[in-house]
Amino acid sequence: MLRFAPSPTGDMHIGNLRVAIFNYIVSKQINEDLVIRIEDTDTERNIEGKDKEILEILNLFSIEYKNVVHQSDSLKYHQKIALQLMTQKKAFACFCSDEKLDELREESIKNGKPFRYDGFCETLSDELVLNTNAPFTVRIKKPEHNIKFTDLLKGDFDYAPFDVDSFIILRQDKTPTYNYACAVDDMIMDISIVIRGEDHVSNTPKQIHIRESLGYDKEIKYVHLPIILNAQTGKKMSKRDDASSVKWLIEEGFLPSAIANYLVLMGNKTPTEIFTLEEAIEWFKIENVSKSSAKFDIDKLKFINRKHIEMLDEMRLSKILGFADADLGKLGKLYLEEASTIKEIKEKIDLIFAAKTTCEGFEEEFIKLQECLKNAPFFDDYEELKTYITEKTSLKGKNLFKPLRYILTGRDNGPNISDVYPFIKNYIGEIIK
Ligand code: GLU
Repeated sequence: MLRFAPSPTGDMHIGNLRVAIFNYIVSKQINEDLVIRIEDTDTERNIEGKDKEILEILNLFSIEYKNVVHQSDSLKYHQKIALQLMTQKKAFACFCSDEKLDELREESIKNGKPFRYDGFCETLSDELVLNTNAPFTVRIKKPEHNIKFTDLLKGDFDYAPFDVDSFIILRQDKTPTYNYACAVDDMIMDISIVIRGEDHVSNTPKQIHIRESLGYDKEIKYVHLPIILNAQTGKKMSKRDDASSVKWLIEEGFLPSAIANYLVLMGNKTPTEIFTLEEAIEWFKIENVSKSSAKFDIDKLKFINRKHIEMLDEMRLSKILGFADADLGKLGKLYLEEASTIKEIKEKIDLIFAAKTTCEGFEEEFIKLQECLKNAPFFDDYEELKTYITEKTSLKGKNLFKPLRYILTGRDNGPNISDVYPFIKNYIGEIIK
């Protein structure tokens, strides 16, 4: 079983979507189920509705999964298992106050050392614990040996007990911490391979330690995906980069198929540049993904988006644009000369249908042309329409073409009118309002 484990704490980041896509592809390749686990135990950071939004995004990208679980539903399990660890003296109650821990932290900073728990509560007797009427957290005892694991991309890791530390598994309110809930759930769900972002590398030895303390000896494979850098600035794609938000990219008119294509292509060896997720399942190799940071280049995504729009069936494109006529899908493709997203294409088509009152510099010609077009019969062929207008209005050269282009497309540049006309000829009545 594989899992995608998003926290409902903000807009879905492209790095997270990349993790979801890779989990989906690998689950298909090895024929194991994929489960979506919403990691919602940090109630202060949860944002209402983000879980739904995440699932909507997964559906939009056609990421199939077996079911969705909310981690908070397993609270009782998490508490019960923590109690088991306490009974076995593998975990202990810690009464240290935030103030005391802050002092310890400051002292470590002063000495240039990383902060570690000083072990004070580890040796308290059961009687003392029972008779202490103060809030407490539950800490797991640090391991007695090094924790080692191999990452499929990054190779071997080896953590000393000091680095794993005696860390908190239940907060004072007895909710589980991320590392603890995650480690227990990966065990209960019988996860075989964890694919996640590299910001979690240092959490992995803690999670392995938790499972070892529980006597779970099945080895879980790990893949930590490198962070994504903004190709333009060379910095990590942070929340401040609009393009880091999947929602933003969709709203801007990037097709899910193009975004998915790019997230798989980025920092990877692929047999072709343009592909669908279904195709990627055939050849994708997680070991081929580069272990150095991937670079996100919005211009490259625009190029890929144009290719995916080109590949769309015209009726489908028309529907995405808000119409239901294959001709308008064809018209949309014509605009790929100058537009890269659905939003940009839609803006161009909306201009065609927008009300036009005059054409600057050609005010009289505009009125003449408008009158002429209103009374004109239907012309299937643009050349015939042109001949008709020329005869009726006696306009020629730029006095004809500038206002005509403007009346028909709402702009004074763009593709040739002779190329646009076949797709708008059935709408002349609506265009000349
Ligand atoms: N909930 C974690 C996150 O969104 C993911 C943890 C994991 O995949 O183990 O970063």
